[in-house]
Amino acid sequence: MKLQRRKTTQFKIGNVGIGSDFPISVQSMTTTKTRDAEATLAQIYEIAANGADIVRVTCNEVEAAEGLVEITERSPVPIVADIHFQYKLALAAIDAGVNGLRLNPGNIRKESQIKEVAKAALGQNIPIRIGVNGGSLDKDLLEKYGDATPEALVESALKELRYLEDVGFYDIKISVKHSNVPMMIESYRLLAEKVKYPLHLGVTEAGPLPGGLIKSTAGISTLLNEGIGDTIRFSLTTNPIEEAKSGRQLLEYLELRERNSLDLIACPSCGRAEVDVIKVAEEAQDALNKENIPLQVAVMGCVVNGPGEARSADLGIAAGKNKGHLFIRGEVVRVVEEKDMVSSLLNEARLIVEEGIDARLAAAEDNAAEIAQKDINDLLNSQGDINKFLERKKSVVEITSNQDND
Ligand code: SF4
Repeated sequence: MKLQRRKTTQFKIGNVGIGSDFPISVQSMTTTKTRDAEATLAQIYEIAANGADIVRVTCNEVEAAEGLVEITERSPVPIVADIHFQYKLALAAIDAGVNGLRLNPGNIRKESQIKEVAKAALGQNIPIRIGVNGGSLDKDLLEKYGDATPEALVESALKELRYLEDVGFYDIKISVKHSNVPMMIESYRLLAEKVKYPLHLGVTEAGPLPGGLIKSTAGISTLLNEGIGDTIRFSLTTNPIEEAKSGRQLLEYLELRERNSLDLIACPSCGRAEVDVIKVAEEAQDALNKENIPLQVAVMGCVVNGPGEARSADLGIAAGKNKGHLFIRGEVVRVVEEKDMVSSLLNEARLIVEEGIDARLAAAEDNAAEIAQKDINDLLNSQGDINKFLERKKSVVEITSNQDND
């Protein structure tokens, strides 16, 4: 089922389209000192390789603006400069060649300064994000509403929006981030009713894993499912590579972006499992991720339920008695030794990427299904004959009911 996106205005940040006619894009932010252009570029390359379409860097000092000259020149993705307090650094970032700006209305509050930045950005076709943040809300609004409420966040955004529109500036996206998930969701819902501009989603200061990941996923997914959101960022207290990966994966899992990375599914394991599922799944994930295999791959603990339950996966392996059943779209194509489960999975994944699913299904070993069925039967037999158990149960019930009558 395709999600209906909220209709928005459109523009580009560098070569990335923003708005409802374009794919939802993933953003992350560097943690290096921007003045250190080499270190910042190295991180930008890593973040981009892990799924970010746009990278934001802080522009917090003159040296950072100087660093941006080289960074924007060599970056593989568009660069957005993050500006707080000093509007002149926004002007410097524009001069340095950034592709976008993020202004915080909570700490750049003078109308004349905001308009000066907007006019300079307009001349260079540089979009601006109005980045409202619950933790750094305009003091007057905090006083008026008593707290960083959704109404306060939205009013802050609309106030800044008027300044930009006054000078004919419309390449705008807006965020109203909050660290509290229900507040964040409400803020964006309220804003979406009032403006047609694209929205950038995020739960601010979401924190380390796993809580940060859960909060961000809860907030961002809820809104995306309502059609709200055009760019996203997971604000996690960890390596920004994880932010990029998480954002990209979320969009792929929601089928809002095409899969270009591994989706490893695995059963949670249970008493029926014939291998250490956690260990095999981790080994498979590491091996497949290293080669960036863009398939859905399943690791299942038993052959009794595994291939059937994971029949929608492109490829999978299920554990039999000292064996692994390699299957493609639920069909067993080969039975391998248990020690070769991960290497066979990796090898078949490579072949699927090269030759395609149909070709690999056609290359299935002739008697694979037969061997697999025999393996399942042997396994079921070794786990006891259910009929014998039922007979035993019946006699136990008879004995106990006779005792009751005594
Ligand atoms: S696939 Fe098998 S081992 Fe895994 S949870 Fe299901 S029944 Fe248990």
